[in-house]
Amino acid sequence: MASIRLENIVKRYGAFTGVKHMSLDIADEEFLVLLGPSGCGKTTTMRMIAGLEEPTEGQIIIGDEVVNEIDARDRDVAMVFQGYALYPNMSIYENIRFPLRMRKIARDKHDALIRQAADMVELGDYLDRKPGALSGGQRQRAALARAVVRQPQVFLMDEPLSNLDAKLRASMRVQIKHMQRQLKVTTVYVTHDQIEAMTLADRIVIMNGGAIQQVGTPDEIYTDPANTFVAGFIGSPPMNLIEGTAAAGRFTAPGVSAPCPAHLSGAITLGVRPEDCRVSGDELTGTVYGVEPTGDVTYLTVAFGERQMEVKAARDFRADIDTPIGIGFDADRLYYFDETGNRIREVA
Ligand code: ATP
Repeated sequence: MASIRLENIVKRYGAFTGVKHMSLDIADEEFLVLLGPSGCGKTTTMRMIAGLEEPTEGQIIIGDEVVNEIDARDRDVAMVFQGYALYPNMSIYENIRFPLRMRKIARDKHDALIRQAADMVELGDYLDRKPGALSGGQRQRAALARAVVRQPQVFLMDEPLSNLDAKLRASMRVQIKHMQRQLKVTTVYVTHDQIEAMTLADRIVIMNGGAIQQVGTPDEIYTDPANTFVAGFIGSPPMNLIEGTAAAGRFTAPGVSAPCPAHLSGAITLGVRPEDCRVSGDELTGTVYGVEPTGDVTYLTVAFGERQMEVKAARDFRADIDTPIGIGFDADRLYYFDETGNRIREVA
C-alpha cells in the first residue's frame, strides 16, 4: 500500500502541453478519480504514474520513492484498461495466474490466490472457461481479478467499465468499490463519466485542458464548485448557467429576474441546478420546450429568451410544448460566477 505524490508534473508533446504543472497528493488507501472531458490529460497522467510515459518535468513519488527512473514493470502497480486484454487461448484460471508467474511468486501459493481473486469478482465457477466463452461483464471481471491477484501497491484503472452496458456498469461499479475497500489498495481511476466519478471516489480531481480545475470529495464538488467548468460538468443534468447582470440585489437576464447578494454588480453568471428549480414561481418565465418522463422524475426543458434550461420536475408533471411557464429557484441554492467563470463566494 502506498501514497502517491505528483510534484509539478508537466507533459509536453512537441509544442503541445498535454498536462500542465499538476501537483497532487493521493493518500494511502484512497480511491481517487480523475474526471474530465476527452483530451483533458487524464490518461496521460495515469500513464505517467504507471511508468508508461515519462513526465517532461516534475517528480512522481510512490510511497517514499521517486519513481521517475523506475521501469513500469518494477513499480508494483496493477492496471486495468477498457480493453480487457485477456489471453484468448488461456483459461480464465491461467489468465488470472499470469501476473503471479511474471512476478515469480512461489508456485504453491498460486492456487489459493487465484481462487480468492476469482471469488471476489464472483467468477469462481468460470475458471476453466476461455475468455471467448464469457460475457463482456464476466471478461471485465476476469481482468479485474487478474489485477488484484497479487496485491500491488497501487491500482490504476482507465475507463474499465466503458465497454459495458448501463446495467452491468452500475453493478460493476459497486463491485469495484467494495473490492477496493476490502483490499485497501490506493486506486487511481480515470473516467469521463461524472456519475461513475461521484459514486466511486473518495476524492475527485476534475481536469480540463491539462490542468486541475478542482479537487474535492464528491459532496464538495457538487455543493461547492470552484468555477463554471466544474459546475457545468457535475450533476445530471448539470447546473444551468445563465449569463446576465447584477445590480441593487437583483440578477436579470432576458426572461429572468432573481434576487442576488447586494454586493454583486455588473456582468455575472447565475448558476442553478435542475433539482433546485420549481415548476411554480416567476424568477424565470419562458415556454415549455420539451417534457421527458423517466418514471421517477420528469425532465423539463424550458426555453427563455434565446436560451434553454433544464428543470427536474415531479414524476407526474406533464405539459404541452410551447405552454407559457414560470420557474422558481431555491434561493438558498443559487451560485454566482464572475466573468472569468470563477465562483463568487458570499461575503460574511
Ligand atoms: P480521453 O478521455 O479521450 O482518453 P484523456 O483526458 O485521457 O482523454 P489524454 O489521452 O491524456 O486525454 O491526452 C491529453 C492530450 O494529449 C490530448 O490532447 C492528446 O491528443 C494529447 N496526446 C496524448 N498522447 C499524445 C502523443 N503521443 N503525442 C501527441 N499528443 C498526445
